[in-house]
Amino acid sequence: MKVFKFGGASVKDAAAVENVFQIIKSETGKLVVVISAMGKSTDLLETLIKAYYNKTSEKPAIFKAFKDYHIEIIETLFGEKGMPQPVYELFNELEHKLATRPSYDYNFEYDQIICFGELISTRIISDYLNAAGHPNKWIDVRTCLKTDDTFRDAKVDWEWTEELILEEFTFQEDQLYITQGFIGSTSANLTTTLGREGSDFTAAIIGSLLMVESVSIWKDVPGILSADPKKMADTVMINELSYKEAVEMTHSGAKVIHPKTMQPLHNKGIPLLVKSFVVPQNPGTVIHKIDHKIELPPIFILKENQVLITLSAKDFSIISIVDIERVVNFLMEKLIKVTLMQQSAIDLNIVADASDENLEEIFGELSTQYNIRYNTGLTLVTIRHYTEEVLDWMVKEKDIYLEQHSRLTARMLVKE
Ligand code: ASP
Ligand code: MG
Repeated sequence: MKVFKFGGASVKDAAAVENVFQIIKSETGKLVVVISAMGKSTDLLETLIKAYYNKTSEKPAIFKAFKDYHIEIIETLFGEKGMPQPVYELFNELEHKLATRPSYDYNFEYDQIICFGELISTRIISDYLNAAGHPNKWIDVRTCLKTDDTFRDAKVDWEWTEELILEEFTFQEDQLYITQGFIGSTSANLTTTLGREGSDFTAAIIGSLLMVESVSIWKDVPGILSADPKKMADTVMINELSYKEAVEMTHSGAKVIHPKTMQPLHNKGIPLLVKSFVVPQNPGTVIHKIDHKIELPPIFILKENQVLITLSAKDFSIISIVDIERVVNFLMEKLIKVTLMQQSAIDLNIVADASDENLEEIFGELSTQYNIRYNTGLTLVTIRHYTEEVLDWMVKEKDIYLEQHSRLTARMLVKE
């Protein structure tokens, strides 16, 4: 028994879906397939949610763009047979939702709408496979993946989910299940999500509860590389990694897998394979329990859009643990992710993810107690297994704003 996970890029158009079908077909054993929303449709739904919530006039046009994108794929896949009834019903359901008045809870509304990306994509693929003579069962994962009600960042209720997953994925009449990543539901059956890019985590949840032999994440890269090939030359492929190394890398910003994916698999000793959907026969990278020591090359992880915020107390007092706690709690409340901290007597340096947060507002509140200096447009470079040569090169090439070293890891904040 295995779990396969396919992300948005792997099902971005009809040809991509056909390719996924070939990969699924070549697996002869029991299989659960977890699929994300198609292409960039989650981003598109995010704009739709904003339009819905703010009641702007763009709403119908965005809905149309979302629907047209899928219709084009459906037409190529199903031809004359037209749109399968269940897909049609999902579009209707979404349209009805959009016609209602939003509640005040943005995160709640977000989850009730964003889920249609995954629901529609899995329904299309499941129906396509069935029509092509490859029987499978579509499962609405919300019936068995139970969470609390932290909308957009829901926490899994492991015990309950285990019970329901084992009830649902019995493999008695079916050998192949198709289900959604990213989404779940509360005890009151309200839709929740596990955070952006959360489908990898779903695959790990299901895989670990079913105790499968492996979980494979199919990507458009050959596996895990020593750096992002779009950003750096001379990347090398990494054949195997420990769970710990993989957590460190993804937590530092390597986007190849969601950082939460490793824990459930590590705890059950289930290997995680990162494989290419372009060259499926290649082994890719295996993340598993490694007893022997492996030599890894320096691994570069870039986290862009960072802001360096330097706070100092207005009354020239020394930065204390109380300040740190206060500021970190405040940023957490604002959903700002702190990526690095460093403190001197007078300054508290905080590096944070500043992609789309409202810095003005944050600074406004912090400036009641602290003097603030800041720099935006920075990149946090994490180098695992660094060598002296690599560090020298960085220092020569880059403008470094802040540095932190441990035995295995060097972190440098540089200008983009
Ligand atoms: N579709 C969701 C997203 O784009 C979840 C995922 O792809 O993992 O964030
Ligand atoms: Mg995705």
